Amino acid sequence: MVFYPPRSIPPLPLVPDTIPVCDFMLDEAHGRCPLSSSLHPFTCGLTGKTYSWLEVKDRVDHLSRALAREFGWHPNQGSEWDKVAASFLLNTIDTLPLFWAIHRLAGVATPANAAYSAAELTHQLTDSKAKVLFTCIPLLRTALEAANKAGIPQSSIYLVDLPAEVLGGPQPLAGFKTLDQLIQQGKSLPPLEKLNWSPGQGARTTAFLCYSSGTSGLPKGVMISHRNVIANSMQICTFENGFREKLKPKGQSTQYFDVTLGLLPQSHIYALVYISHVGTYRGDQIIVLPKFEIKSYLNSIQRFRISSLVIVPPIIITMLRNKDLLAKHDLSSVEAVFTGAAPLGAETAQELQGLFPSWAIRQGYGLTETSTVVSASLPSDIWFGSSGSLLPGFEARLISPEGKEILEYDTPGELVVRGPSVVLGYLNNEKSTKETFQGGWMHTGDEAVVRLGPRKTEHIWIVDRIKELIKVKGMQVAPAELEAHLLEHSMVADCAVVGILDEAAGEIPKAFVVKSPSAAGDDTTIAEAIKKHVEDHKARHKWLKGGVEFIDVVPKSPSGKILRRLLRDKEKEARRKA
Ligand code: AMP
Repeated sequence: MVFYPPRSIPPLPLVPDTIPVCDFMLDEAHGRCPLSSSLHPFTCGLTGKTYSWLEVKDRVDHLSRALAREFGWHPNQGSEWDKVAASFLLNTIDTLPLFWAIHRLAGVATPANAAYSAAELTHQLTDSKAKVLFTCIPLLRTALEAANKAGIPQSSIYLVDLPAEVLGGPQPLAGFKTLDQLIQQGKSLPPLEKLNWSPGQGARTTAFLCYSSGTSGLPKGVMISHRNVIANSMQICTFENGFREKLKPKGQSTQYFDVTLGLLPQSHIYALVYISHVGTYRGDQIIVLPKFEIKSYLNSIQRFRISSLVIVPPIIITMLRNKDLLAKHDLSSVEAVFTGAAPLGAETAQELQGLFPSWAIRQGYGLTETSTVVSASLPSDIWFGSSGSLLPGFEARLISPEGKEILEYDTPGELVVRGPSVVLGYLNNEKSTKETFQGGWMHTGDEAVVRLGPRKTEHIWIVDRIKELIKVKGMQVAPAELEAHLLEHSMVADCAVVGILDEAAGEIPKAFVVKSPSAAGDDTTIAEAIKKHVEDHKARHKWLKGGVEFIDVVPKSPSGKILRRLLRDKEKEARRKA
């Protein structure tokens, strides 16, 4: 049975495939909110520094001219894979203009997670063959180590400005060019030739290369085309505009469509598309914050009168644990909370609703491989625990473990989706691409059921994860990556890593380890050494916060596949007894 969006949702308009993302975002001819020329899409939540639409347009234009000069990149010549630029940044108001300048040259932007270690960043730089790296002072040491290993010369590393609050005072910039210097340089350079794309080129050309482990294995480059990003932005706007017009009668609210919190990492697809592209396209003011800290978060909501909180479940948990702080802040501007990237339990949503009865608490479901949102709840049809209805342009099916199509409601199966924002595939990985994307259908690796909601619409409930992925605070942890790393340790003969439930983070990684004969010392000492091995080389969210447990043998299928479910069940049973 194929599931569709509710009938009340308007159909998706034609998605352009001859323009790059930057034209869709910056050129009013493509439907962007016409009022917004006078608006300021990006504002720093710490300093209040802000860019108007015209400033954004100019910065994109000048930066692209300078990049063309520095690297010999031409908008209409060369493959996009010869024009790959990486970012390794805390959130800034410069990040999206930077991406759009790369797109103006038909290049690929590959954003790396700011939490990455040097080894993790090296993997992304090498795999993507990035030629240039944009970073910031707090991340410079890691960036330099990785760039050096990936063969990116220091002359191709640029620094992006950050607020003094983050830098903790003036910092020496000796030896590095800055983004602002590039923009300055671009001002006196001749204008670039316009991009001249044939029909379908926007659907074939990669705009972003984001990293995801998919259903198994190591992080892979996900090729997200220009049309994918444009499609998901249009899908979300088509889905949301109807009800928002009803929510906000003309003239009653701010001149902005929404004042949106831009706190989630801009390197992750959720913030990249749902906050940055959708927000700027429809005329939001995005309040950019470099990192989550409860006090500056609440201060920004109060100071900027934020109306839309786009967050992940662990932020809601932190809010609920700090009710005294919530009470000390004026949060009356907030109208809606949108959460995604990991499940939001019905009880947690209920508790938040109890504190803020007027807020629309919505949940969305999506993946890097679908350029983010697949389904979301409508404010008029919220059912806590569900991930809402399909966005226009999506179709969904559920497939049983035996490969049969599920024909009934309330019956779990793997969620398989098709739509215009399903990505091109994994870079240089035909095997995983073939396994995951079949005839336009994307196999999500998530187990879902479809249920008829109180308003008789079909709701998607994500009930379990079939794939290996662990999600810590909404960020990906690939068990295969940690297992390969643990096996490098002399005291580990075999191992398996699984995610275990954690109230604050959603999930945390736990390692089941078979000790090698050379493992010396008591179990606590060995476990600490193994944990340290991860802490020394991997981003913080990958650390073994769930602990290390020693076992005699890792359960495996006859073909050698780790039977993770057995280990997860073992863990659940131990917790039940505890
Ligand atoms: P990413 O590619 O990092 O966005 O991760 C996508 C994965 O996050 C999905 O395949 C799900 O496993 C998980 N996920 C995202 N949104 C939800 C949600 N609302 N409920 C449950 N899991 C989710």
